[in-house]
Parts: sequence; C-alpha cells; structure tokens
Amino acid sequence: MTEDRTIRILQLYPREMNIYGDWGNVLVLKQRLKWYGYNPVVEEYNAGDEFPADVDIIVGGGGQDSGQVVIQQDLQQLAPTLQSLADDGLPMLVICGLYQLFGKFFRTHEGALIPGIGILDLETHGGDVRLIGNVLSVSEEFGEIHGYENHSGQTFLGPGVKPLAEIRKGEGNNTKDSTEGARYKNVVASYLHGSLLPKNPAIADFLIEQAAVRKFGSFSPVPRSEEDLAELSKLSEMARQHAGQRP
Ligand code: GLN
Repeated sequence: MTEDRTIRILQLYPREMNIYGDWGNVLVLKQRLKWYGYNPVVEEYNAGDEFPADVDIIVGGGGQDSGQVVIQQDLQQLAPTLQSLADDGLPMLVICGLYQLFGKFFRTHEGALIPGIGILDLETHGGDVRLIGNVLSVSEEFGEIHGYENHSGQTFLGPGVKPLAEIRKGEGNNTKDSTEGARYKNVVASYLHGSLLPKNPAIADFLIEQAAVRKFGSFSPVPRSEEDLAELSKLSEMARQHAGQRP
C-alpha cells in the first residue's frame, strides 16, 4: 500500500473573505506541498456548508465590513470547532478581515459591533482613516515579512497572544504600537495581503511543516530532483527580490 501523504487545506468563506489576492495563499501552499512530495487537497467552506471532518491547514482571507457581517453568524457556529482545532495545534493562517473576526470583536467605524470568535485575545476598533500601503515588518520567527495593508480596523492585542512581527514601514495592527499580526499556537494572523505567502514562503513552510508533524508525526519532504531544486531556488530568489521592491 502506498503511504498516505494527503494534506487537506480548507479555505474559509472564499465567497466573502478573499480580497487583494488572498486566494494566492492557497495556491502557494498547494504548490509547495507538491514540491515536498505531499498530496494537497483544497476544499472550500462557505456559510451553510458542512464543516469537513478531516482538515490539516485552515486559511482565511480579508473582506469588506459588509462581507464580515454576512459571515459572522455562521462563523459563530464554527467557533467551538475552530477553537479546539487551534488549541490542538492545527496550523491556520488568517488575514485581515478574518484575523479581526478570530479576535473578540470588530467595532466598525460606523459603530456596528461584529462579534468575533475569541480564538485570539485581541479587539478591533474601526477608525475614520484607512491604513493603506506596503508594509515591511520583522519577526524573530520568519525574518522580514512583506505585504500590503488596506483596513479601517485597528487591532489591539491582549496578553494571550504575541505579535507576529514588528513594523518597520507602514502601520500593521494600529497606528500606535508598531506591532503587526498575532501568533497563538500554530495560528498565524496578519493584516498583510499581497498575497502574503508568495512574498513570504517561510510562513508557508511553517504551516506545511506543522501540518505534516501534526498528521504524520514528522515533516519528511521527498528528495528533490536537481531540476526541481534549481527551479525552487530561482523562484525563491525572484520572490525575495520582488518582495523587497518599494514604490
Ligand atoms: N473590513 C475590514 C477593515 O476595513 C477588513 C479589511 C480587509 O480585510 N482588508 O478593517
């Protein structure tokens, strides 16, 4: 019998929560899993769907305030499932709009309160200014993290989470404390679109390794052909160079 190397990626709410190229994060995970000799399977979860029994990586994107309102009720129903998966070390990547809703709440700049699911100890307050532009941040775990932000919500972290990175350019979580994103267990949360993972493959590899370790006990990439290795290092170098470009 051939060894099972299936890794299941679940994209949360792609209908409403998938802007500024966030879908690219799933494509990167899929391609890198293939490079490592795994068998990636991508599934979508939209409001009203049945939550799949078997999932190894969860990815969620950003969305307009109106999209966040549409999914909020359904998301509340998923809260216990997502909480226990996060507590159990399932790797998750949540960007901007879903990052905010993984926290306690998002009060929009119009005063609407969108409840979050509280996996992340943080809260978000909408302001009159939108924080827009290219971001450079630095993390101990992942090195430089590049991306693009566009949000009105400003997020403030509680003691239960750590920031993902420290801001060097742009705003990140808010205009006050130079933090960007949040970390809890194997959950990576960030304001950065771009997409995030093509620009920052170290984060993709973290999610993949954690998924493999959780499912199979270890991360064991298959030996790569010389051709593959050459292509990978060429693409990584290109990604690195372009990520560094500034307007
Ligand atoms: N609607 C949220 C805000 O403006 C999230 C935006 C986004 O996902 N880019 O803060």
